[in-house]
Amino acid sequence: MEILKERYEKLQESLPGYVTLVVVSKTHPVEKMRVVYEAGARIFGENRVQEILAKKPLLPEDIQWHLIGQLQRNKVRAILPHVALIHSMDRESLFEEIQKEAVKMQLQPKVLLQVHVAKENTKAGFDSDELFSFVEKYRNNWLPVIPCGLMAMATFTDDEAQIESEFRQVQALFERLKTEFFKHNDAFSIVSMGMSSDWPIALRCGSNMIRVGSRIFGER
Ligand SMILES: *Cc1c(COP(=O)(O)O)cnc(C)c1O
Repeated sequence: MEILKERYEKLQESLPGYVTLVVVSKTHPVEKMRVVYEAGARIFGENRVQEILAKKPLLPEDIQWHLIGQLQRNKVRAILPHVALIHSMDRESLFEEIQKEAVKMQLQPKVLLQVHVAKENTKAGFDSDELFSFVEKYRNNWLPVIPCGLMAMATFTDDEAQIESEFRQVQALFERLKTEFFKHNDAFSIVSMGMSSDWPIALRCGSNMIRVGSRIFGER
């Protein structure tokens, strides 16, 4: 258990102050999460709605829960009151559902638009054309949803040049969206990219939020 604390502290200390670390705790028990919490972590990322709902009552209330995995429309209502940020807003139909439920529940959910830059087709997200037409369509119609930036995953590969080129694409998309659509929207400020294996590359490319699991908890 002590090792978890050490790994978390070492990673946290190595990050520049503007970078937010999301501790990815999926599949790991609350006992281990508590160790990392006690070392100072307050933001935990999970990829399943059921897992957040099960773990949340067992842990301190000042934890911010981030949803990082694909969200089904029929789970939106259940999860909305419990998450501080949804990283995986990856399609228009999901946005419409989040917006509809947020209105009903009088919530202002924060979301990141997930973009697809990896080679794998299995990875979710808007490609760049879809992203621009989506943002164009909703440019004055976000409310009450708050768009806070972009999230992406790079291809699972050892080829660092490939990963770097994908992260640079994401950063370029962010800059373009920021200038063209969100210049006066301070909330639109997050680029969530980088995981255990590739976060140093992501930081070089402009990431300001990394999502790290196995490097802290060990392999799943
Ligand atoms: C699991 C997961 C992570 C963390 O992966 P590690 O390799 O364990 O750091 C980050 N982002 C997403 C979307 C994930 O599903």
